[in-house]
Amino acid sequence: MNIGTLLIHNAGTADATTGALSTPIFQASTFDQGVSFREDGRTVEREFDYARSGNPTRKALEQTIAALEGGASGFAFSSGIAAISSVLGIFAAGDHIITAEDIYGGSYRIINTFFKRWGLESTAVDASNLDEIKKAIKPNTKALFLETPSNPLLKITDLHAAFAVAREAGLVSIVDNTFMTPYLQRPIEHGADIVIHSATKFLGGHSDVLAGLAVANAEALGREVYRVQNGFGAVLAPWDSWLTLRGIKTLKARLAIQQKTALAVAQWLQQHKRVEAVYYPGLEGHPGKEAHDAQASGAGAVLSFKTKTTEQALRFLGKTRLAAAAVSLGGVETIASYPVRMSHASIPKQERERLGVTDALIRISAGLEDVEDLIADFEEALA
Ligand SMILES: *Cc1c(COP(=O)(O)O)cnc(C)c1O
Repeated sequence: MNIGTLLIHNAGTADATTGALSTPIFQASTFDQGVSFREDGRTVEREFDYARSGNPTRKALEQTIAALEGGASGFAFSSGIAAISSVLGIFAAGDHIITAEDIYGGSYRIINTFFKRWGLESTAVDASNLDEIKKAIKPNTKALFLETPSNPLLKITDLHAAFAVAREAGLVSIVDNTFMTPYLQRPIEHGADIVIHSATKFLGGHSDVLAGLAVANAEALGREVYRVQNGFGAVLAPWDSWLTLRGIKTLKARLAIQQKTALAVAQWLQQHKRVEAVYYPGLEGHPGKEAHDAQASGAGAVLSFKTKTTEQALRFLGKTRLAAAAVSLGGVETIASYPVRMSHASIPKQERERLGVTDALIRISAGLEDVEDLIADFEEALA
C-alpha cells in the first residue's frame, strides 16, 4: 500500500469487536485477570493487565506508527521529549553517543544536563559532514542521533550515508523524524534503527495534544525500548492516544496544503528587501536539497528566515496577525517562532551564534490559512 492509503487503513483504524471505524477510548488503568486463575493449573494470559504496560487505545496508535514507519514495534509516550529520554534510556553510564549539533533545543538540554549527570557521554557534530561523524566515533560509542531537516536552519543530513557509517561502527541509528512525518520521509528505509516523533506537531496536527512516539526496526531492539517505556512509565494516556490517531488520519490532506503554502511563503520571502536569507529545503539552491529529495517526498511545512536587523524580526513577531507568535509547529494554525527565546533558549548564546541561530531568525510553520492572506499579513508585518 502507498503511504496515503496506509494513513487510513492500518492497525489503528477499526475496532475488531464492534466494527467501529474509530478506535474506542479504553479509559481503563487495570484489566480483570480472573480468567487466568484456573483450578486445573493452566494459565490463560489476557493481553492487558495494567495500563502502564499496555492499553488497547495506545496499542492501536503504537501499531499505527510502526506500520507507517515500516518498523517492527511502536511505542507511545506522554511527550516527544519523553520518547527521546526513554529511547536514550536503553544506554548505560559510560556509553557515548554522537548527535547532530542542531537538534531540537530540548533534546540538546536533556542530553547535556540530565543524561550527562547519569554518565551518558555525548559529542555534537555537524552531521551533514560524514568525516565529522567518523572522527567522533570512540570505542564506547553506541549511537548516532540525527534530525533532518534540522531545527531551525533546515540543514540536511544524507541518512543513507550517515547510517552506513553508523552500521559499520555497530552503532544504533536514531532519527527524530518530527519535521517530515512518515508521510514524507521513512528513515528505516534508509537504515535507521529507531525513529522518534514529537506527535505534538504534525501527527497530532491540531495544537491540542502533547505526545511522543518511537518505532524500532526490529523486535529485539523494540523490547529494549519497551522495558524503559514500561519501567520509566512516561506513557501516553488513552484519550491522547485517540487524539493522535485522529490527527494521523488527516495528515496527508493537511501536509499537502501546508507544504504548498510553505513553498509559496519561502519564495515570497526570498525576494523581500527586508529579508537576509530564507531556509527551506524546497528552494532551489538550498544546501543538501539533492540529498533531501533522494530521501523524502516533499520539503515539509517548516521554513526559517532572517531579517536584515533584529528590530525587524521583533517587529514582525509583534505585528503579524495571522501567525501566532508561539512555540511548536505542525498545527493547522500558522506559527511564527523566535528560536533564540523559545526552542533554542537553553543553548548558550555563543554556541547558538556559531550555529547560525541569530537574533534575527524567525521560524515559520505554515498552517491551513489561505496563502494570499498569509502573504498579505506578512507584507504588513515586515513593512
Ligand atoms: C517539539 C519537538 C520535540 C519535543 O517534543 P514535545 O512533544 O514537545 O516533548 C522533539 N523534537 C522536535 C524536532 C520537536 O520539534
